[in-house]
Amino acid sequence: MEIKKLEGIVLSETNYSESSKILNVLTKELGIIGIISRGCRKIKSQLRSVSCKMTWGLFNIYYKENGLSTLISVDVLDNLNNTKKDIIKISYASFLLELTEQVYKQNNDSLIFSLFTSSLKKIDSGFDPIVITNIIELKYLDYLGIGLQLDGCSNCGNRDDIVTISVKYGGYICKDCLKDLPLVSSKAIKLIRMLYYVDIDKITKLDLHYDTIKEIDSFLDEYYDEYSGLYLKSKQFLKKINTINC
Ligand SMILES: [Zn+2]
Repeated sequence: MEIKKLEGIVLSETNYSESSKILNVLTKELGIIGIISRGCRKIKSQLRSVSCKMTWGLFNIYYKENGLSTLISVDVLDNLNNTKKDIIKISYASFLLELTEQVYKQNNDSLIFSLFTSSLKKIDSGFDPIVITNIIELKYLDYLGIGLQLDGCSNCGNRDDIVTISVKYGGYICKDCLKDLPLVSSKAIKLIRMLYYVDIDKITKLDLHYDTIKEIDSFLDEYYDEYSGLYLKSKQFLKKINTINC
């Protein structure tokens, strides 16, 4: 068996036999692979602290192409300590783990890994987890094949007089095509496009009005429900904590 060192992040874990776990790891180089961490549930195991969800590091493994690889050690790249001690941050990060796994299964584009890790870094360094999550949800639409039309009216192509964004039409709508579609604020219309195109790594400040964020978040929820075909348990939990927060 060949030894490999791969950058990756643990998406999920399952107990295996009496003291081991199987880790589902999204790697930068090879996509999602299964790694067995032998004996990691023993108190004294050196693999114990790194064999869990959200561990992000360089995984030293005995690599097996068809089947489970075996974990030797992990050099942790980022502990995400701020995220792990904050219920709101960790809830959003968990949602992103689950979403990323689903999106990656439909489209194994290598850029997904860097989008995902950039978003975790931003959440950990204190940026609003809702906005960071919305940015990722917007960017993932293209990988799911359900991208939004944000360069003109999604019904007639008109580039001017955009008055709302529509789930039904999948993008902007101009005043001539509005009919009885629900309106969103002009701030939300502009912001959603900005978030769609922004380079996450370059964000230094997010100073957004709560109502505008809420509008975009609700739009994305509805859009994902309508077109993505994904059902994510962690999303239901996020909805619950959001209700408590309001
Ligand atoms: Zn139009």
